[in-house]
Amino acid sequence: MTESGTDIGAHGARLTIDLGAIVANWRMLSARGAADCAAVVKADAYGCGVSRVGPALLEAGCRTFFVAHLSEGVAARGALPEAAIYVLNGLPPGACEPFAAHGLRPVLGSPEELSEWAAFSGGRLPAALHVDTGMNRLGLPVPEALALAGDPRIAACGIDLILSHFVSAEKPADPVNARQIADFGRVRAAYPGLRASLANSSGVFLDGARHDLLRPGYALFGGNPTPEAANPMRPVVRLEAMITQVRNVEAGASAGYNGRWTAPAPSRLATLSLGYADGFPRAISGRGQALVGGVPCPILGLVSMDLIILDVTAAPAARRGATAVLIGDGLDIDTVGRAAGTIGYEILTGLGSRYVRIYVG
Ligand SMILES: *Cc1c(COP(=O)(O)O)cnc(C)c1O
Repeated sequence: MTESGTDIGAHGARLTIDLGAIVANWRMLSARGAADCAAVVKADAYGCGVSRVGPALLEAGCRTFFVAHLSEGVAARGALPEAAIYVLNGLPPGACEPFAAHGLRPVLGSPEELSEWAAFSGGRLPAALHVDTGMNRLGLPVPEALALAGDPRIAACGIDLILSHFVSAEKPADPVNARQIADFGRVRAAYPGLRASLANSSGVFLDGARHDLLRPGYALFGGNPTPEAANPMRPVVRLEAMITQVRNVEAGASAGYNGRWTAPAPSRLATLSLGYADGFPRAISGRGQALVGGVPCPILGLVSMDLIILDVTAAPAARRGATAVLIGDGLDIDTVGRAAGTIGYEILTGLGSRYVRIYVG
């Protein structure tokens, strides 16, 4: 065993990220319309690492990237010297200088942001305009956006893109989608000549939502953009942890903190060297599964900081040094998210940095 490198024993667990699958997913989404396809790489590319994901997508032909924060934009710029990088959370007070210094484009969403950027840039630097069609979170409300069309401040801000964001794109039957598509269409018509972008991952699968630029994030990383149907995306992340010990217990024995689980019958338990400090959610305690030799094994009791206990009674492959799959082989991020009472997005973006990370493809 080596001390570091790619050795699962030294780190307890291993995260494998398939860059080829991310590129294949981007190509698949791109092919769904005439629109250009960007990549949303906020939160360090949904936990997958913007310094690796960014260049892989650039090489595949992606030219436009979105992050949430200025600091993420600076990190993305380091990996993507020439790409267009938009910062979704907008312009913090007094931040024009670093935006310009790193060639980042703020997504402006309030009169204050527009005024500050206009005064600084005088139309010489590009930016986007965020229109709020229903989230009440970021961006100008539709009436304000319509009223501002043709205002000299728009030209003075160098606006080259208008965008809005869906409330419920993953629920195609929700009537809010049609309302947002209609409202965004009206705003777009008031700003002729600008590129328009509405679709996140799920929005790519909604009719009338694709416009000029797609803005997928989650689906690039293997999340299901169509949760009411089979997942059309290729899986990207695989999380495996090493088994440190296997033991037999009698009926009535308990396992883990607070003895949350009691053996209903004589059982075989395996201890995995991964826990909530690795970003594997404690909320999955007693509800999730891992695969050992392909056999689904229930997670028992409470997830510890560094360890998880599995019932491997039905899994003959369980032994010290063998690995258990926590994400992968059909156990996808959406399933893990559901078992933890959350969404796959939170599982992905919470992926830890303690275990060894391997990039393939
Ligand atoms: C995060 C985000 C996206 C990407 O959404 P996914 O559902 O991950 O595809 C697109 N647009 C905005 C404004 C976002 O905040």
